[in-house]
Amino acid sequence: GNFKSYQLSDELIKALDVLKYNKPTEVQSEVIPRVLENQDLIVKSQTGSGKTAAFAIPICERMVWEENKPQTLVLTPTRELAAQVREDITNIGRFKRIKALAVYGKAPFAIQKDELKQKTHVVVGTPGRVMDHIEKDTLNLDQIKYLVIDEADEMLRMGFLDEVEAIIKQVPSNRVTTLYSATLPKEIEKLCHKYMHDPINVEI
Ligand code: AMP
Repeated sequence: GNFKSYQLSDELIKALDVLKYNKPTEVQSEVIPRVLENQDLIVKSQTGSGKTAAFAIPICERMVWEENKPQTLVLTPTRELAAQVREDITNIGRFKRIKALAVYGKAPFAIQKDELKQKTHVVVGTPGRVMDHIEKDTLNLDQIKYLVIDEADEMLRMGFLDEVEAIIKQVPSNRVTTLYSATLPKEIEKLCHKYMHDPINVEI
């Protein structure tokens, strides 16, 4: 495979060049064309497989720069992963000037609130803090077109799954949802079948 075969914009191809991503990893070649076709996905894959770029590339491609409200919401189990995903999205979207923001607990709410008033294409966050921003009306979900649930099994293990479900219910249903998990316990499969539209299973 080759990134050029996905008909990505020149801005994306250039960013992948700078990052020295010469060819798609296995998970990327499974995920990128399907997300570009608005297909919901349940992806069973490990960290280190290139899964972050697998969702970041097609989502950056689809972000509309002119829109001021967030168009993508990524949920992660930890602050560290939220910060890493935000950085990867910023790097991949740099020539489209994609603005990604990370929101997580133990960092000042007020600063995040001010940042969320600025143009933001992608919000990456941990479930507790994302829910806080939704409840306090500091995060507007009206324009969300992509929802990513990253490391779902970790979120289950950490007791975040109810909060994840409460957030999913707040996201407009005409969205594309992709879920990433190393394992697929029953609770996660149930969540997928309740909230996804004819999801395809991808196993790496
Ligand atoms: P991840 O599984 O998302 O944590 O990614 C693992 C590592 O692979 C990260 O350091 C990425 O920067 C790198 N990576 C992702 N996609 C590619 C690619 N297509 N070619 C080379 N490296 C990549």
